[in-house]
Order: sequence, then C-alpha cells, then structure tokens
Amino acid sequence: MKAYRIQAPHAIGLDELNAQPVGESCVKLKNLVCGIAGTDLAVYSGEQPVQYPIIPGRQCVGFVSEVGAAVSGLTRGNRVVAYSQASCHSCKACKDSRYYDCEKPAVFGVDENGFLSDFSVVSADDVFAIPDRLKDEDAIFTEHTSLAINVLSRLNIEKGEHLVIVGASIVGIILAQVAMYYQTVPVVVDMHEDLLEIARKAGVYYTVNTVEEDAGKKVLSLTGGHMADACAFITSSTVPLANAFDYCCKGGRLALVGRAAGLRGELKCNLASLFEKNLDIYTVTDCGKNYPTAINMLANRTVTVDMLPTRVVPFAEAGQAIEACAAGDGAIEKLLVKV
Ligand SMILES: [Zn+2]
Repeated sequence: MKAYRIQAPHAIGLDELNAQPVGESCVKLKNLVCGIAGTDLAVYSGEQPVQYPIIPGRQCVGFVSEVGAAVSGLTRGNRVVAYSQASCHSCKACKDSRYYDCEKPAVFGVDENGFLSDFSVVSADDVFAIPDRLKDEDAIFTEHTSLAINVLSRLNIEKGEHLVIVGASIVGIILAQVAMYYQTVPVVVDMHEDLLEIARKAGVYYTVNTVEEDAGKKVLSLTGGHMADACAFITSSTVPLANAFDYCCKGGRLALVGRAAGLRGELKCNLASLFEKNLDIYTVTDCGKNYPTAINMLANRTVTVDMLPTRVVPFAEAGQAIEACAAGDGAIEKLLVKV
C-alpha cells in the first residue's frame, strides 16, 4: 500500500508499505477522501509530539474492500466514514460496546497511523456507513458536526436561547447551523471578516467583528440586556478566552470546544469574571455517539458545507499541499485529499 508518512518535523514522504492483514473484527478500506485537520499540521510542524514515523489524517471516507470473518452489518462496497479515534476494546465502556465513551482512545494520525494512504485497516466498530446521497467530500465533516451536536447537548441548550460562538472556524460555522436547527439564536464572534462572511453565507444572521465593534455591547443589545445564556469558545479562535466570559449572562454556561492536541500554546486568562458570573464550564472534545445523527444531518442538508473554504488536491500532491498549509498558505482553507 502507498502511504504518506511524517518521518520527523517538516519531513513527509510517500512510502510503499506492506499490505496490512485484515483481522477478523476489522474491515479494509479503499480510502476515497482524507481530510487534513489542524492537528495533522501540528504533527507535521512538530508542535504536537508523536512517535515517528506516522501516517497523518484522522478524517476519512472510503469504501469497504475487505471484511473480516467476524464482522456483521458491513459488506464489500459499503461507503463509510471512519471515526476519528480508535477505541481500545479493553476498557469498561468498550466492553459494554460504548466505544464512543472509550477511556483510552487513540486518535488517528496522533496516537496511531491515520488515513493518508490508499488503503487502511480499521476495527469495524470504528466505521459508520453513509447513504448514497451524501458526497464523500461532505461526509468528511461528520466529525465537526458530531462535535457540534455534542456541544449543544453538553450546554443543555434550549429553544429560543442565545448562543454566542467565539470563532468562525469550520466547527464554529457548523455549530451555528446545528444551533439554528435546534431553534436557538447563534451570534458568531470573530476578528476575521472573511470568516464571518462565510458564517453569513451559512445563514447566520448575527455576526460580530471584534475589530470593528464592541462584541460585549452588541451581545447586550441583541439579548435585551440579559447577555447570552450560553457561549461556545472554539479553542483555535484568536479572540481572547476572557472575552467569552463577558458574553455570558450570570449563571450562564460556557463550553470550551476543541481537541487538546489542536491547542496551540496555552489557554490563559484571568478567572475573576468566571467567579463573578458563576459560570458552568464544560470541555467538549469529541463524540462518536453522535456520528449517525451527524451523518443524517449532512445527508439531509440540515448542515451544509458548500460555503466552507476547501481545497481538494490529488493524492500525488498531498505532501506538498500539507507543507504549504503548515507554512500558512491559504490558512483558512480546509485541505481534502482525493485518494
Ligand atoms: Zn476503550
């Protein structure tokens, strides 16, 4: 099989590797599209420590090309999206078949090999079938959508509530769409006008550019002097975390959204206003439990990704494209590799 491997920081190459055997509870995927996440770029640049060499890419859509003897419910030719992390299959949650609650999950592309290869072998429990009407390139966003659903569920968001989303990243924009589906009012805050423009294209009515406006005052006026019931702070956001405290009402809820592996530097802030406002804080990193719902939302176009800035490159150009992305070229574009 052909796979890109990162051998050391800033060194990625295409290697010819031996085909992996297909275990009895596993499936072999012919990979179709692989999404490159911020974490992959952090692995490439050396900011995220890993054991080298490693195949990057944790977001993958492929079709099942071989099925292990003990696998039921999947057949050759099924298109699937892979879960972003491998379950350990030995902790209590895994033994109860609650793989999404695994206590020791291994993130693909960080803790174990990812999907930037022509074929991959994964546990059948870690893939989810997708319907024909869902395009490969759209299904890549299952992870983001699943995370968004998890944010709203952790925040226990209710109809009619205001949700301030700090960070008009892909997760932020998808979260705003899911929030609207739940009949809440998203207010997207960012300092980059190009990202806010994408949020507006996604149907978000209230956007605030912190460079041009006092976001606190704007939220105060939008909420009739109450401030937001809940706030989701996307950890890749360039807006200071303390601002998120200001947008919440007294006794409000705040979610910190993102992967620890994707955090650039430290999240620092003065916690004083957190106490003054008596906020409830949740960290939301992922939720495989929501993959089937997320797949449904993308297939039904409750969540659309057409307006998101993506760049699709052929497999042969993936190494160069990752290098360019890590160097900051087209920083807001999501890189998709067509295998
Ligand atoms: Zn486990």
